[in-house]
Amino acid sequence: MAKVLILGGGFGGVVAAERLAEQLGDEHQITLVSRSRWFVFYPALVRLAFGKCQREDVSLNLRQTLLTERVNFIEAEVARIYPVERKVTIAHGEVEGKLSYDYLIFALGRRLATEQITGFYEHAHHLLSVEKALRFGKAVAEFHEGSAVIGQCPGARLPVPVYETAFALARLLDERGERDRARITIVSPDPPGLHLEDSDVSIALRNALAAHDIEFRPDFPIDRVTPGAAATSNGQGINFNLLMLLPPFQGSAAATHLGITNEESYINVDSAMHVVGVERMYAVGDCVNFTGPKMGHMAVRQAEVAATNLAAEIAGHLPVSRYIHDMKVVIDEGGSDSIYVHKEIWSNEPANVRQGRFWSWAKRAQEKYWEAAHS
Ligand SMILES: Cc1cc2nc3c(=O)[nH]c(=O)nc-3n(C[C@H](O)[C@H](O)[C@H](O)COP(=O)(O)OP(=O)(O)OC[C@H]3O[C@@H](n4cnc5c(N)ncnc54)[C@H](O)[C@@H]3O)c2cc1C
Repeated sequence: MAKVLILGGGFGGVVAAERLAEQLGDEHQITLVSRSRWFVFYPALVRLAFGKCQREDVSLNLRQTLLTERVNFIEAEVARIYPVERKVTIAHGEVEGKLSYDYLIFALGRRLATEQITGFYEHAHHLLSVEKALRFGKAVAEFHEGSAVIGQCPGARLPVPVYETAFALARLLDERGERDRARITIVSPDPPGLHLEDSDVSIALRNALAAHDIEFRPDFPIDRVTPGAAATSNGQGINFNLLMLLPPFQGSAAATHLGITNEESYINVDSAMHVVGVERMYAVGDCVNFTGPKMGHMAVRQAEVAATNLAAEIAGHLPVSRYIHDMKVVIDEGGSDSIYVHKEIWSNEPANVRQGRFWSWAKRAQEKYWEAAHS
C-alpha cells in the first residue's frame, strides 16, 4: 500500500488526484491538502470582474463535487516539507501536525510577491482571486473618465488577463457611450506578446489593440505605485484614475528552503515532472521552473504526466510519460478580434495564430466543459 500526498487544490493538484484515482488500485491511499475547499476557475475572473458571470460560476467545492471517496481531502495550510523524512507539516486547518507520505505531488501554484512593488497593496487593484476580482469590478463600475492603466509588473508571468481586461473595459466604455472620455493604456516590461519571441503573435495583438484604441507602453517596469501614479525603475511614470496590475510572481514559499528551486523559488523538474534531486517527489503547475507564461492547461498536462509516472513508479517501472512544453491559449476579446495561439515553447517553430469570433466561443465552451466534468 502506498500513501500518495498531493499538495494544492488548483488545476494541477485536482487533475493529478483524478488521474491517480483512475490509475491506482484501491489498496493505495490518495490525500489532497489545500488551504481552501474552493477550487477557483481563474480564467473566468476577468468575466467575473465585468459582471458577466457570478461568484458561484467560478468556484467549485472540492469536498462536495470534485473528489470521489477515492481521494481524502484535508482543508489546511501546508507549512513545510521534509523530503528526507517524507513528511509535511500542515496547520490552520481541520488537521494540524505532520502528515507522512510515500510519494508527493507538489502543486501549490505561485505566490504573489506584491511586497516587491512599493505601494502595490495600498493603491493597485489586481484580479488574481475571487475577492480581488469583485473589488476591481466595483472600481470599474465607478470609472467613467480619465486614464485606465492595466498591466503587469516585472516577473508577472500571465499576460492573458491583462489583454482581456483592456478589451473588456474598452467594450464596456463603448456600451456606456463613454469611450471617448477615457484613455486605456497597457503597461509592460516587455513588448506586446505572450512571453514568447514570435512576430505573428505580436502583430495580431498590436492590430487587436489598435482596433480598440488601446495604447501599449513596453519597457515599462513598474516598481512603485502612489495614489494616482505608477513609476518605473527606468525613470518613467504614468497617472491613473483606475489601475489594475499583475504583481510579480514567485514559486511557493513552502519549497524555498529545500534547495530544489531557482532564484524565483520555482521548482526544478525534469520532463517526467520529477523534482530534480529528490526521490518520490513530483511538482506540477505554476510552481515549476519552466520558461514562458504560467497557464492552467500546462498545469493540467503536467499533472497527467506526473500521475502516470507516479503510478508507474509505484508499480516498479521507469517513467512512461514526458511533458512537452506547449502553449494553447485564447485571448478573449469578446468578438471577432479574439486570438488563439498555439506554440511549442521548447521548439523554434513559429506559433500558429488564428483570429475570429469562434475563439471567444471556444473559450466559454471549454469553461462549461470543465464545470460539467467536475460537478
Ligand atoms: C485572471 C486569470 C486568468 C487566467 N487565464 C488563463 C487562461 O485563459 N488560460 C490558461 O491556460 N490559464 C489561465 N490562467 C492561469 C491558470 O489559472 C494557472 O496557470 C493555474 O491556475 C495554475 O494551476 P496550479 O494548480 O499550478 O495553481 P493554482 O491554480 O494556483 O492552485 C494552487 C492551489 O494550492 C493552494 N495553496 C497554495 N499555497 C498553499 C499552502 N501553503 N497550503 C495549502 N494550500 C495552498 C491554493 O489555494 C490553490 O488551491 C489565468 C489565471 C488568472 C489568475
